[in-house]
Amino acid sequence: KVMLVSAPADRALLGERNRGEEHSRLRERLTLAIRDGHFSLHYQPKADVRTGRISGVEALLRWQDPILGNVSPSVFIPFAEEHGLIIDIGRYVLHAACAQVQRWRNDGLGEYPVAVNLSACQFLDPELVSYVRTTLETTGLPPELLEFELTESASMANAEQSISVMRSLKELGISISIDDFGTGFSNLSYLKRFPVDKLKIDRSFVIEMTQSSESLSIVQAVIAMAHRLKLKVVAEGVETQKQFSFLALNYCDEVQGYFFSRPLPPGDFEIFVRESSVL
Ligand code: C2E
Ligand code: CA
Ligand code: CA
Ligand code: CA
Repeated sequence: KVMLVSAPADRALLGERNRGEEHSRLRERLTLAIRDGHFSLHYQPKADVRTGRISGVEALLRWQDPILGNVSPSVFIPFAEEHGLIIDIGRYVLHAACAQVQRWRNDGLGEYPVAVNLSACQFLDPELVSYVRTTLETTGLPPELLEFELTESASMANAEQSISVMRSLKELGISISIDDFGTGFSNLSYLKRFPVDKLKIDRSFVIEMTQSSESLSIVQAVIAMAHRLKLKVVAEGVETQKQFSFLALNYCDEVQGYFFSRPLPPGDFEIFVRESSVL
């Protein structure tokens, strides 16, 4: 079996030829995954810090290949971006996420805003806005329940174009979050020009926050700045009670991470909702 999900260091040890074979095989499997439905979505609940209630979910793509097994999105997403497959994959994700959340509404489970990750190439796809509009129409999902997550690098590659795409999405009623905030080149002056609604503080800051006073100061400053700019703040990768308490004390609006819940398949999310509403 070819080592498809090996660490980059291991991969570098493989010769050029093996690497080439590995690539074409991964590409072939990914193409089949789109066609044969080997993708699914997990949903990670986010919590409103003040009420402790579910404030929404993030859709996270899962690939279960019959031959390769589970492949992590941090492996296949960058690969799909590089090989021109992300547009089709992204369309699957958008449609599946909107359809699922609309089904939950219809079944009376509740109204859960869903965040969908967008790669730079999807964001710069000239057909993005019309595809999004059509997807909202065909699934019936109200645009207020859809949110896009973009990284700083994806949104700043071409600022003028990004602002115009963001405006079109906002006109449809969709909201926009900056993902992994703090890890990109953080040109803060762009923040006020970009019509964004939320910042997601990267997990690395959440980890360091409880370990060094400098990191805590950064998190406090980011939250204060975001609030001044009328942006909501979500902290990612919250795993411990201590991290949660620090964030709550510092007026973070929402938290996401294993402390509240792991990403869940739809059926488990339904159970999670029913159990948390009993409390
Ligand atoms: P991301 O958007 O930053 O998503 C958060 C990642 O952190 C997810 O990894 C999630 O499972 C993980 N996570 C959540 N809570 C915790 C925690 O408390 N501790 C730890 N250690 N990890 C936590 P995942 O699902 O493996 O996804 C990795 C990345 O792949 C995502 O990072 C995102 O950049 C990308 N991705 C996933 N699904 C999609 C998609 O549908 N489209 C695009 N374009 N990218 C996606
Ligand atoms: Ca994300
Ligand atoms: Ca993130
Ligand atoms: Ca990330």
